[in-house]
Amino acid sequence: MKILVCLKLVPNVREAKIDPVTNNLDRSSMRMVVNPSDLCGLKFALNIKDALDDTEISVLSMGTMAAEKFLRDAIQMGADKAYLLSDMAFKGSDTLATSYSLSRAIKSLGDFDLIITGDSTLDGDTGQVGPELSKFLDFNLLSFIKDIKYEDESFIVTRISNDREEEVRAKAPLLVTALKDSVPRPSKFSRGREEIAQEAEIKILSSENVDFDEDRIGQKGSPTIVKEVFPPVHNEPGQFIEGSIDEKVKGLIDILRERKVIE
Ligand SMILES: Cc1cc2nc3c(=O)[nH]c(=O)nc-3n(C[C@H](O)[C@H](O)[C@H](O)COP(=O)(O)OP(=O)(O)OC[C@H]3O[C@@H](n4cnc5c(N)ncnc54)[C@H](O)[C@@H]3O)c2cc1C
Repeated sequence: MKILVCLKLVPNVREAKIDPVTNNLDRSSMRMVVNPSDLCGLKFALNIKDALDDTEISVLSMGTMAAEKFLRDAIQMGADKAYLLSDMAFKGSDTLATSYSLSRAIKSLGDFDLIITGDSTLDGDTGQVGPELSKFLDFNLLSFIKDIKYEDESFIVTRISNDREEEVRAKAPLLVTALKDSVPRPSKFSRGREEIAQEAEIKILSSENVDFDEDRIGQKGSPTIVKEVFPPVHNEPGQFIEGSIDEKVKGLIDILRERKVIE
């Protein structure tokens, strides 16, 4: 069984701070992490590998060289091979160009039975890359999965559909999108693989060793236009006026006067 798991590096939005002057995200204050649902995807792959001999797990990320360390962590968690798709030609990619680029990289690596992506990311959060990738690669697609196993030459997948859970049987080649928090994330400390991870080759893929249509990558291959970026508007919390009815009425009149609603 050959499995490929897509891992995207995202800023840890829990640490996000907005610059009060420019209203821009202060990225310098945020650490990068692997997108949480991608780690659930890796855990699903590791569970299949534990149950099935001759299973090989590859991990793939598209991004800057900063992703190399996180791919090494994935090897320490139990992945066998790691690939980093990194090239300035991808700058400005929207989801269509991203999934096209990932699909070309995956095709260059050979055949896979199962591809796992996260359901969506902490930053872009479109949830488009998994389904687009399945289309580019002509794989069956099952989204929002919370469990997967392999039995009698089929994948048995538990997925969420609206407010229901359903169990679906599917054949390879299959792409699934893993739900965040569907399964405990894998630990890099439990497998004793530090040395293997340190010595592993993280293979860099780029336009030099993968065949891309240049019109379909980067800004040129991105039909999405971001018209405006703005922080969400937060309504001010309500104010309670305590006391007796008379005190409440007086308090309300004072506030309305203060705000020049009444004289
Ligand atoms: C017009 C436009 C320009 C952009 N320009 C840039 C830019 O210059 N630089 C930049 O960094 N971003 C840029 N982005 C953002 C970038 O395109 C998205 O981050 C990317 O397409 C993934 O979208 P998403 O985060 O919504 O993924 P989703 O569809 O929410 O992701 C679902 C899953 O797909 C997989 N996946 C997604 N992206 C990757 C990846 N890169 N590697 C491996 N797996 C992945 C993961 O498993 C993930 O959980 C731009 C976006 C737009 C719309």
